[in-house]
Amino acid sequence: MNVLILGGTREARELADRASGERGFDIVSSLAGRVSDPLLPPGAVRIGGFGGAEGLREWLADNKIDAVVDATHPFAGTMSAHAATAAGALGVPLLHVRRPGWTEQPGDHWIRVPDLAAAAEALADLGERVFLTIGRQGVAAFAGLHRHWFLIRAIDPPEGAVPIRHQLLLARGPFPVAEEAGLLAEHRIEVLVTKDSGGTLTDAKLTAARAAGLPVVMVDRPALPPGGAVVDSAVEAWNWLRRKQTEK
Ligand code: NAP
Repeated sequence: MNVLILGGTREARELADRASGERGFDIVSSLAGRVSDPLLPPGAVRIGGFGGAEGLREWLADNKIDAVVDATHPFAGTMSAHAATAAGALGVPLLHVRRPGWTEQPGDHWIRVPDLAAAAEALADLGERVFLTIGRQGVAAFAGLHRHWFLIRAIDPPEGAVPIRHQLLLARGPFPVAEEAGLLAEHRIEVLVTKDSGGTLTDAKLTAARAAGLPVVMVDRPALPPGGAVVDSAVEAWNWLRRKQTEK
């Protein structure tokens, strides 16, 4: 069974680790190629875009792919949509792996917003010293805020416009709670802005914000495209793949 795993996440690496080398499975993991030094999954890896939904459809057909696992990040909405279109056009089974989002706990003060533009608007009433942990993309949404100061953390430098008053911190998680609490104190942070990525690799900042009594602007995930099954872990994705193999 030829399987394409669309990756860039811990779940994608876990699934590739589980499935690579298993009898009857030929697994290829795909990465966008955005990060300069990506964490590579085990097994075969291809890097770079496919050229839109049509390019992906051709790639799936050329490589005789029997199943697609979209284990991209919950905010990689374009790739998920292309996967749905391309797999749908060929009648290839598609699975989305979506880890659960984060849930507000007692003591949290979260402001949920639908997108980054709304997050930038919400900052008007929430403090001027901002810890921005939304990744490299989308920082431009905050570039018009001249009154605010931003600590911007990402793995690689942001693309496009950035706010005038900022400090860049290049780092890859996981980050321990004590380190996150230290950052909030050192930079006198008044508000945290993050995306509802879910998972345990990067949730320490939420614990630190709760302990410090800071508001959190939480950007909601984009909706998944219609079609395709959905699970929330690599283990369940592996079970789905084995079922598909039996059905084949
Ligand atoms: P996106 O906006 O959904 O996708 C933009 C384009 O990047 C796609 O149209 C596709 O190009 C290419 N692409 C994305 N994921 C790909 C993959 N796994 N393999 C091959 N091409 C891919 O994606 P994004 O938000 O830029 O994220 C890029 C990658 O980083 C994803 O793999 C994702 O899992 C990972 N990631 C994203 C975030 C985030 O917050 N967005 C966080 C952590 C990791 P073509 O149209 O040319 O095929």
